[in-house]
Formats: sequence, C-alpha cells, structure tokens
Amino acid sequence: MIPYVREIKFEYGKADQVSPLIRRVVANNPGPFTYLGTGTYIIGRGEVAVIDPGPDMDDHLEAILAALEPGEKITHILVTHHHSDHSPLAGPLKARTGASIYGCAVAEIPVDDSGVRMEAGADFGFSPDVSLCGGGQVLEGPGWTMEAIATPGHTSNHICFALKEENALFSGDHIMGWSTTVITPPDGDMTDYMDSLDKVKAREFSVLWPTHGPPITEVTPFIEAYIAHRRAREAQVLKAVTEGHGKIREMVPVLYADVDPRLHPAAARSVLGHMIDLVRRGLVTTDGTPGPDSEYRAV
Ligand SMILES: [Zn+2]
Repeated sequence: MIPYVREIKFEYGKADQVSPLIRRVVANNPGPFTYLGTGTYIIGRGEVAVIDPGPDMDDHLEAILAALEPGEKITHILVTHHHSDHSPLAGPLKARTGASIYGCAVAEIPVDDSGVRMEAGADFGFSPDVSLCGGGQVLEGPGWTMEAIATPGHTSNHICFALKEENALFSGDHIMGWSTTVITPPDGDMTDYMDSLDKVKAREFSVLWPTHGPPITEVTPFIEAYIAHRRAREAQVLKAVTEGHGKIREMVPVLYADVDPRLHPAAARSVLGHMIDLVRRGLVTTDGTPGPDSEYRAV
C-alpha cells in the first residue's frame, strides 16, 4: 500500500551532489533501524550547513570534512533528533569546525522498562547550542534558507528542516521512503505523529530527503499512504478491542500473524502507541494510565 522507495546509489564515505544545493555522504552504519546507513546532508556552497552528522564514527567525521571544497566552512550543524544514528557526531564535528549545533534537546529522559529494542539507541546527552524546540526559526547562509519545523511523534523533540530554495524538506526519521517509522511510547507519541504528518503534507513540498534511504519525490501520495497505513492499523486495534481482546499481548499475535514472532515485542510497543491515542480520543478506555499490560475496553 505504501509506495516505498528503496533504490539508492552511493559509496560509503564519498559525497555526492544530489541536487543543486545538496550534497550527501552516507555513514557505514547499516542496520535494521538505519537501512543502508545515515545520510548526512551538506547544504549550500562556501558557508554550509550539515544536517544529521550521524553516529560517532571517525571515518564518517573525516568523510564529512573531506566532502568540503578548499575554503569551505561548516557554520551550522542541524540535528533532527537525539537518536544515536543522528546526533552523536555533532559534538566532534563542532570541535573540528567551530560550527554551532541547532536542534531540540529531549525535555525529560523517558523511562522505558519494556527492554524492547526499537531503535538504534538514544543520545540523551544531546545538547544543542541553539534550541529549535517548537520550530519556526529561520536559519540562513549564502544562497540557502532553512526553516525548522517541529514534527514530534517519532520522538518528542523531532525537527524537520525545510530548504526554501528547493521547496525540499529534510524529514529525518519522521517520514522515510524505505520503511514506516517507529513510534515508541513514552517518548514517541502517535497523536503527535499523525498531527505532524498532516503538518508536513499541508506544506506541499516538492521532495523529501529522509536521513535514511533515497528521496521521496511523489510527496503527497506518499504521505497519504503513510497516513492510511496508520489509520488501517488503528482500525484493526479498535476492532480487536471491540471483539473483546482487551490485552495488547493477546492481540499482537493476531494482528501481526504475518510478521516474524521475534518482532512481536516491538509490534506491541507500536500497538501501545495506538492505544494511548485511542484512550485520549475517547474511543477506548482502561483503568489508570494506559500501559503494556492494561486491560482495554471499547467505549
Ligand atoms: Zn530515530
């Protein structure tokens, strides 16, 4: 249903000019949450911005610096969110270049005692020099203009960056071409996530550049399919509750029957994300705070 885009040509550590204003260099950190690796973007010419410097890997730091032309200077380091495949290299890159770090620090370190591995890991020490929490800030360099857009959902602090000159959006992990994104409560929030999808859709960007994988050029149909996929999953969850399957652990093997059972613990976190949203919207009820072991009832 989702028209995934997964075709991408690159060589690890080698920068490619992928649009008039955008260069990309991919880190050699492929994995189940990073696809073929973290795509770090370099924006502009002369005085440039770097988006999502990536994991703390020496060879990737050297590759970013080697991507610069003689005389070029990194002035801005922009970070979409605090996951370990996005932000940790910001500090080392700042130390080498003197550039300032822009992004939104996570407000409180979430307690997730589920023990379920859902992400590449988190970088809770991420602390930007300039806070972009809430979005709306405009950053500029010679020939480029970037607007921060707050897009909470995948994480509470997720920021997308809109490049005005190309009507392009750097979508981080909010919208990816190769996969759906992971929404893990408590830092991930399904209600916010759906609002953030609507927010991006309304802007009618010409192209999305996710941090992992190739660009998305059929933007509106892609986002519509992304939204429809979540609503379809939500309808399945609601149906299961209505039919008396009130426990997440009972409904996961049914809803995800076609999915490898080893992924069921992760699927259960995603169902919890839906459940919290459904309780908020008054469609489902439970006693106390909605949790992984709560008993849910249809309203
Ligand atoms: Zn992430």
